Amino acid sequence: MNIKNYINGKFKNPVQDYWIENFNPSNGEVYGQIPNSTSEDIEDAYNAAKSAFPSWSKKTLEERSRILIKISELLEANLQRFAEAESKDNGKPISLAKAVDIPRAASNFRFFGNAITQFASESHESVGQNAINYTLRQPIGVVGCISPWNLPLYLFTWKIAPAIAAGNCVVAKPSEVTPMTAYLLGEICNEAGLPKGVLNIVHGLGTTTGQAIVEHTDIKAISFTGGTATGAHIAKIAAPMFKKLSLELGGKNPNIIFADCDYDDMLETTVRSSFANQGQICLCGSRIFIESSIYERFKSDFITRIKALKVGHPSDANTNIGALVSKPHLEKVKSYIEIAKDENGTVLCGGKEVIVKGFENGYYLEPTVIEVPNDECRVNQEEIFGPVVTIMPFDTEEDVLAMANKVKYGLSATLWTNDLKRTLRMSNQLQAGIVWVNTWMMRDLRTPFGGVKASGVGREGGFEALRFFTEPKNVCIKY
Ligand code: NDP
Repeated sequence: MNIKNYINGKFKNPVQDYWIENFNPSNGEVYGQIPNSTSEDIEDAYNAAKSAFPSWSKKTLEERSRILIKISELLEANLQRFAEAESKDNGKPISLAKAVDIPRAASNFRFFGNAITQFASESHESVGQNAINYTLRQPIGVVGCISPWNLPLYLFTWKIAPAIAAGNCVVAKPSEVTPMTAYLLGEICNEAGLPKGVLNIVHGLGTTTGQAIVEHTDIKAISFTGGTATGAHIAKIAAPMFKKLSLELGGKNPNIIFADCDYDDMLETTVRSSFANQGQICLCGSRIFIESSIYERFKSDFITRIKALKVGHPSDANTNIGALVSKPHLEKVKSYIEIAKDENGTVLCGGKEVIVKGFENGYYLEPTVIEVPNDECRVNQEEIFGPVVTIMPFDTEEDVLAMANKVKYGLSATLWTNDLKRTLRMSNQLQAGIVWVNTWMMRDLRTPFGGVKASGVGREGGFEALRFFTEPKNVCIKY
């Protein structure tokens, strides 16, 4: 099946007729082609967005809200179709796409459709000066949204929904590895009555299509989620043009387990926080630190649980771990298992590719647990972004805090304890944008989302996203 660009409400071939193959990770087969769009396609998309902006930005909030909520309803009505497409494109279990990815994409539109009607700005009376100031929050104009392959529609819509809710028009690029649900979204937008040109979806490689969005002089803001190196590259291009930038980047998140936690709940959740979506979630707790007194018990129970996980075809209802997203990514993840061995790590379980009967060329890997000799080894410092976690014991709160913070990343951290004072002490000091205590990946869309250090700049979520996608203007009136 050939995917097309969605520009000005229409599906179009790329101007230059350059195409890329789209792989099905569950069997390694090419099942379609997608455009490798150039700056000419981006120009086309930009012009459509620019033309749509005056009218869209002046639509009442109720009208914008109504259309966003309609898109949300249509996504829900098409849940099965979208979940199948996501699973086929990405390799994730269809059960996961159905329970998480697509419902969350629908929630993104519904949430921002509602949030925009509640978005307010401040006023300041300049007492004694006979003046009143108010802040206008105006849409930026044409903005660029670039998203990764791990949660394709979920993260794509997490950017697009607030951007258009706030009155902007968008040129967006999904990852070239997982373009399918973004392509299908175009149809839904037309059906929901989104005016043409408000959202333009352009497909292609990051280095051609993505870069052309970032380099476009009149696309004034870029919201990017992806790897830290790509984020740094984008920042270098965007900074001299004074673009507004939101960067959601990599993570190497600690999962810190104290002996006083609710053990069963912790174990259950830690299996998920380690291997959900084949470990390809920026929020996965890939470094597990366990208090020494329960280390051996945890190690034994955790490995028993991991060995019971079923690696299999994404469409099989019993599958816990599907296929990794691509062959190069599988090779990258496997290379870290070798690095771990070279660094005197012990592979406690997993570590090998899995041949799934009937799908022998798929990209399957066993969930892998590595016991590391210290926290400074590469597998404990570098983002692997696959079904690989490290475990090691700790003795004191101070020690584990130091190890948790001793990485370049700072996206999320998970803490398992029932000690309130410790919870407060640790939450204050953990270098992360999000701290989960006795839970993982529990999301309230009103909360700020993002990371510190090499995990990014800026926050998404709730009014933070609407602030990013608007320019504040101070109006001062003397009376
Ligand atoms: P990449 O950085 O490789 O790509 C992300 C997106 O950027 C893709 O659409 C990619 O296109 C595009 N891109 C690549 N190069 C450029 C460029 N020069 N200019 C503009 N766009 C470009 O990340 P992955 O897709 O591999 O995603 C995995 C990464 O994303 C991990 O590091 C993960 O931690 C991070 N991530 C962060 C999250 C967060 O919220 N902080 C959430 C989810 C993931 P293409 O794919 O076509 O190359």
